[in-house]
Amino acid sequence: MEASGNRAQGDRLGARLQPPFPMTQPVPHAVARLRAERLARSLKPFVARGSRAERCPHCRIQPSHCLCAWRPRVSSTVGVCLLMHDIEALKPSNTGWLIADVIAATHAFGWARTAVDPALLELLGDPQWQPYLVFPGEYASPSRVVETVAPQPGRKPLFVLLDATWTEARKMFRKSPYLDSLPVLSLTPAQLSRYRLRRSTRGEHLCTAEVAALCLELAGDSHAGAALDDYLDAFSQHYLAAKRRLPLDLSDALHQRLQLYR
Ligand SMILES: [Zn+2]
Repeated sequence: MEASGNRAQGDRLGARLQPPFPMTQPVPHAVARLRAERLARSLKPFVARGSRAERCPHCRIQPSHCLCAWRPRVSSTVGVCLLMHDIEALKPSNTGWLIADVIAATHAFGWARTAVDPALLELLGDPQWQPYLVFPGEYASPSRVVETVAPQPGRKPLFVLLDATWTEARKMFRKSPYLDSLPVLSLTPAQLSRYRLRRSTRGEHLCTAEVAALCLELAGDSHAGAALDDYLDAFSQHYLAAKRRLPLDLSDALHQRLQLYR
């Protein structure tokens, strides 16, 4: 109550954006931890576009348009393993972060051409998980390519996603020998990318959160997939509105749907 009282005394925009439920302070997730580690290793300060603006440390959006109160609460048995290219975790528009917000079993590792984190190898070898490397099948030998998710009994699907630009992801795919033994889950998405904030060099590619949402659906968890889709849309909406200093309509259909994931 104290927190909401203080918020109500904020500027008019802040007051209008008062969320309908209490704010919570999430425990830093895998991507947040990776971001902190990457920042600590930086020799010079990382300056992202638009990074001079004050940002909420949890959703990375300016406090006037904070998304935290709208974060879906879903339980899923699916796991996600993000392999993140160098500064990906530092980008304010990175959508791997959103996956970690929604899916509790999200793991995140920085990718390097010459080294591999032993914890990543341990995760990939953990018998509770059945890893799938999600990548276009045309880049893999046909014997590795699968188009459905059918884990063996007692194992849960673990989707390994290369979180990078398309050019970087292709390099990661070629130069990560520890991934060579994994089946390649090849997606054929029917919907256009809704990710408008940061397009890859070839616009037909989905952003990482969209790929994860499709994977959740393929694994039979369309509830979590839809939650992630809606959350991505809300992130895009809040992010752009903050950038353009526009108010948000928190009673629109998207926000009404998001309330159902609480
Ligand atoms: Zn926030």
